[in-house]
Amino acid sequence: MKRIKIEQRRVNGENMTDYITEALKSESLRTLKKLIAIPSVNMTNGNERAFPPFGKAIDQALKQTLNICEKMGMDTFYDPEGFYGFAEYGEGDETIGVLCHLDVVPEGDLDKWESNPFDAVERDGVLYGRGTQDDKGPTIAALYAFKAVMDSEEVFNKKIRFIFGTDEETLWRCMKMYEAHEDFPDRGFVPDGTFPLTYAEKALLQVKLTGPGAKKMSIECGTSPNVVPDRAEYICENTEQLSAIFDKMEIPYTVEGKKMTVLGRSVHASQAQDGKNAIALLAKGLVGFQPHPAISFIGEKIGMETNGETLFGKVEDEITGELTLNVGTLTITDTYSEITLDMRIPHSHDKEAIADKLKKVTQVYGLDYMEYDYLPSLYVPLESDLVQTLWNVYKDKTGDDSEPVTSGGATYARSMPNMVAFGAHFPGSESLAHQENEGIKLDEFYKSMDIYAEAIVRLCCR
Ligand SMILES: [Zn+2]
Repeated sequence: MKRIKIEQRRVNGENMTDYITEALKSESLRTLKKLIAIPSVNMTNGNERAFPPFGKAIDQALKQTLNICEKMGMDTFYDPEGFYGFAEYGEGDETIGVLCHLDVVPEGDLDKWESNPFDAVERDGVLYGRGTQDDKGPTIAALYAFKAVMDSEEVFNKKIRFIFGTDEETLWRCMKMYEAHEDFPDRGFVPDGTFPLTYAEKALLQVKLTGPGAKKMSIECGTSPNVVPDRAEYICENTEQLSAIFDKMEIPYTVEGKKMTVLGRSVHASQAQDGKNAIALLAKGLVGFQPHPAISFIGEKIGMETNGETLFGKVEDEITGELTLNVGTLTITDTYSEITLDMRIPHSHDKEAIADKLKKVTQVYGLDYMEYDYLPSLYVPLESDLVQTLWNVYKDKTGDDSEPVTSGGATYARSMPNMVAFGAHFPGSESLAHQENEGIKLDEFYKSMDIYAEAIVRLCCR
C-alpha cells in the first residue's frame, strides 16, 4: 500500500495530524459527484415486495458505495434482499460502527433549483446537489476519512463497520431488516446530524384516534402528525355566532363566505411549544358550539397545552426535558373522524404508561386508539467514553467548545444502541437539507473528513 506524507500541526497544544491531503480532497469530491448523480429517491409506491425494495436508483447507490469501499480495501456485504449493505475492515473483539444512508428526499420544486439537483456543481466554494448535506456528503467524508487513516501509519486494533441504509427518509425498513439479520456494532457514530454530537433523543410516538362521523360537519385540517398546523378551516352555517365566540376567546381567524379559517403558527412537532396549533385553537372555539367527540377530546383534554399535562400529568426529565404533544391533523366527514397526535417522550419515561393513559381517556370519548409509528429514545451518557472521545475530537480539531445536545427530533442514530449522531453539519452553518439548492460548503466537507479521520483513529487504533 502506498504511504502518503502526513503533516503534523499543533492544535490546542496537542500534536494533531492533518489527515486530509489535496489528492484525497479531489478524489473524494469526484466520488461524491458520482454518487449525487444517482437520483436515489424512494420509489416504493406501496409495492414493498418488489426487488430492489426501494427502486433501482437506491440500489445502484448502494452498490456503487460498496464498490468504493471494496476499492479502499474493505470486505463488503450486499443484503441479497437489497435493504442494506455494509463494509468492514480490521480485526478485534470490538466493532466500531459508522451508520450512513444513501436514499435522498425528492428534489422538490425544480424551478427553485439554480442547477440540476442530480448534477452536482460547485459555485463559490459550495457543492450543490440533492444529498450533498443529507446524507451522501457526510457518508463520503466518513469513507475518505477511513481511507486517510488506512493510508497513514496507524494500525487498526478494532474492527470498523460502515453500514449503509436505504430507507432513512421514509420508514427505516432497511434498519429493521438489518436488525433481523445482522449483529449491531458495539458502539459508534452516525454522520447524519450536527456537530459536536447528539447524545439523547426523546422517544417518538405517533397515534391515530378514530371515531364517528358527523352529518353536518366537514373538517380536514393539518398536513402531517409532525407539523404544528398553521391553519384550520371550518365550513360554518352561522359565521356570525362563531365569530363572536372566536372574538371573545381571542382566537385569530378570517372569514370568506361560509369558510372560517383559524390561524396559528407552524413549527416542527418536536418544538411544539414554539408554535401555535390552529387545530387546537379551532377545537377550543368549537367545543361549546358544535359538539363532536373528536372536538371535545381536543378542546377538553389538550387545549393549548403542548406538554400533555392534563392527559398525563407532568412528564419530564433533566436530560431530555418535557414531553411534547402535537395535534397534527383532524378529519371529520359524515362517515368517520380521525385525529393524529405526535408525542415526544422524555427518555426516562415509559412509553407504555403514556399509551395506556391515552387509551383510557380516548375510550371515554368513544375514540379508538391506534399506534402509527414508534421510535424508542436514544441515550448514551455524556460521561461515556464514546461521547467524551468524539466530543474531544471535535473540540481539538475545531477549537469550538459547543456542547453536545439532546433533541426531540429523531436522528438515524437511534436505530441501533450505543450510537450517537456526530456531524457533519456544523453549528451555525446554514442547513438546506431537504430543501431546494441543498449544498455543502467544501471547506466544511473536508473539515468533517478530518474530524472523522481523527475519530476513527481514537476509536479504532488506540
Ligand atoms: Zn439524513
